[in-house]
Amino acid sequence: MTDYRQMWSDLGMDLENHDNLCAVLPVAFGDTYLSQENRPEGMAFYDFVVSEIHGVRPAELIEHQKNGGKVFGTFCIFVPDEVVFAAGGIATGLCGGSQFWVPDGEKVLPKSTCPLIKASVGARIGRTCPFFRIADMYVGETTCDGKKKAWEILAEDVPVHVMDMPQMKRPQDIAKWEDEIRNFIKVVEEQTGNQVTAEKLAEAIKLLNNKRKALARVYACRKADPTPISGKDALLMTQIAFYDDPARCAEMANKLADELEQRIQDGVAVFPKGAKRILISGTPMAIPNWKLHHIVETCGAAVVCEEACTGTRYFENLVDESQTTLDGQIHALAERYMKNNCACFTPNKGRIEDIIRLCKEYKVDGVIDANLKFCTLYDTEGRDVERALKEAGIPVLGLETDYVDTDAEQLRTRIGAFLEMLGE
Ligand code: SF4
Ligand code: SF4
Repeated sequence: MTDYRQMWSDLGMDLENHDNLCAVLPVAFGDTYLSQENRPEGMAFYDFVVSEIHGVRPAELIEHQKNGGKVFGTFCIFVPDEVVFAAGGIATGLCGGSQFWVPDGEKVLPKSTCPLIKASVGARIGRTCPFFRIADMYVGETTCDGKKKAWEILAEDVPVHVMDMPQMKRPQDIAKWEDEIRNFIKVVEEQTGNQVTAEKLAEAIKLLNNKRKALARVYACRKADPTPISGKDALLMTQIAFYDDPARCAEMANKLADELEQRIQDGVAVFPKGAKRILISGTPMAIPNWKLHHIVETCGAAVVCEEACTGTRYFENLVDESQTTLDGQIHALAERYMKNNCACFTPNKGRIEDIIRLCKEYKVDGVIDANLKFCTLYDTEGRDVERALKEAGIPVLGLETDYVDTDAEQLRTRIGAFLEMLGE
């Protein structure tokens, strides 16, 4: 690994504590990922990204800033990255997926906050993540209560713009999201000093659509039985997509899809025929949260799809590229983003319809509906998800997980019993 200590020091990071994180991540990655057999060659790129996770991309972002560019950190798939790229900025996902950051988050947040929020706040205030140090502005949204309060805490330390999310999907809500996007354009224009024109926005819409299409190609390969890629590897690709350069992300995902399509033709698989096929639905799994996939796949089943923001919700639905005016494009953006079925909406029937559709498309044997501890939204919605799946004759296991590893054995026991039941 290249030595990035000077860069981290210039970013004002806590080098000593950051060393502790750098010591544990390669071990966790080796145990979870490098222990897999017969991985696609295309995963070498993603392995490299992880090996340089706090180096290569942060250095690119700093270079962008040196050239006068701005970096916007986001925490939710509702934030339209297109606007940022149209203004010559870079958008990068910031959600924290490691328990390492949680204790720092708990210094300012109640313990009964979901680990994703605690880790995200902890990564900032503990000064142990370069991405959180680099971003010129954070972009939050009013999706859940924990996040709303987290923005207030983060705003004491870094500029934060909050987008006010509608909580329903009526026509007036889509119009409201359009207004929020309009307002976001103004904020981004002020920050970057660049105007968002219809030409620039059209280019950015294409850029992000191409990324979505590439990710969708990889996911389409997972519909093959047996699957040519493990769920863990597919999850890693999606997690990295949140902060990689969008053009490179599309290029590498397309390369991986080429290889997977060839594997399907050649009958190359990573799980034996007959291995149970699992769809995981629920809360996002930010990098390096690989826990559930690892448990399921080391129990012998294959995760073939994620109905999650680190899954199908991230790339399904393209933005209409035919619009040539800013008004038309903003409307197209609002329509596309409002198709996302986050549990923050009421009612949220579309999510249940999506899960059932995906179960058919990916030939799923069972669903694990998993929510992060203290996420009331997904926990509550779990009741409806389980009921609908049972009615549709699809076996389902509802689980709650945390970033700590102390529940891993209990999860393994429950997942093992669920898989055994599927085998009957
Ligand atoms: S689960 Fe909801 S709040 Fe979280 S990233 Fe997805 S859309 Fe945003
Ligand atoms: S997992 Fe739930 S509680 Fe946590 S940030 Fe997402 S919506 Fe909010």
